[in-house]
Amino acid sequence: MICVLTGGTGGAKFVDGLRQAMPAEEITLIVNTGDDLLWWGLYVSPDIDSITYVLSGMLSRERGWGVKGDTFLCLQAMGQLGEPTWFHTGDRDLAMHLLRSRLLAEGKTLSEATTVVSEKLGVKARVLPMSNSRVETRVDTPIGELSFEEYFVQRWYQDPVNSVRFAGATDAEPAPGVIEAIAAADAILIAPSNPITSIGPILAVPGIREALHRAHGKIAAISPIVGNAPVAGPAGILMAAQGLPCSIAGVAQAYEDFLDILICDTRDARAAEALRKSGLRVECTQTIMRSAEDKATLAREALSFVSSASLAGDEPRPRSTAFRRLDSQP
Ligand code: GDP
Repeated sequence: MICVLTGGTGGAKFVDGLRQAMPAEEITLIVNTGDDLLWWGLYVSPDIDSITYVLSGMLSRERGWGVKGDTFLCLQAMGQLGEPTWFHTGDRDLAMHLLRSRLLAEGKTLSEATTVVSEKLGVKARVLPMSNSRVETRVDTPIGELSFEEYFVQRWYQDPVNSVRFAGATDAEPAPGVIEAIAAADAILIAPSNPITSIGPILAVPGIREALHRAHGKIAAISPIVGNAPVAGPAGILMAAQGLPCSIAGVAQAYEDFLDILICDTRDARAAEALRKSGLRVECTQTIMRSAEDKATLAREALSFVSSASLAGDEPRPRSTAFRRLDSQP
């Protein structure tokens, strides 16, 4: 069994590769819900949606989000009615939000609603939200605090960032199955997602970080930072706001208390050499995922790195429990 912590477009691309590299039934995904929002009165969970669409073969690979071949007639009509249109939801994508919202209104948890949708779409992997409690990523900027989607989609991540916090995290509990999946996993992969706003909210849920400290499977992260810049998006700005350098060393630092292996791009070979001196196992490979083949190759490489580390019986790194949480504010 492989457990993957994931969120966002980088994570979705990696999971697309993983489903080609191993049986989907053997994958459990723990997905960020810090970006969830109410849109036109509907509950939208962007990262769960992307993962569900990837696993059911429905994701638009051009956009990296939403359903392939979707139309946007409802969005147009809502605009005519004077409703906000900055968050783009396609017509078929809306079916997902309608069904999930109805299930939640009937009293189902987000986990239960996610399972119903997964089953209906023939998803064989297990998709778990990080928590059934509301944890909201909040980005503090000079114009005030924004939700992640306001910061990222509505305002094109143009605002300087003072800090990031995960509102509600301290009172949240991991969703059913999350801790068990980490404990049972032969290996745990941290997808090349934004360490602050895609993986950060998962790690902020009390109990998840501790479960990673106790995990017996090797833990490997694929760096979303290549050559001191994110492959896409605001990861560099957000890492700087949280006091981390935008480099593979910054990624290693974000996960330092539980990471066994950092997988970085061959372009970072020199930085990798320096990082190895800290005792961390660092593997270099081609990590830019353009084609379906790139994604599958990276997934296979990641699996082979964790399995060779397990076979080599590397000493586990000291898993400090005194890690400075990137955010612990309510
Ligand atoms: P956001 O766009 O910053 O919100 O971050 P997401 O978690 O949605 O995922 C995008 C992250 O994935 C960014 O930090 C990118 O640098 C990273 N990413 C996207 N595509 C690739 C890729 O092909 N390879 C690698 N290594 N990282 C990628």
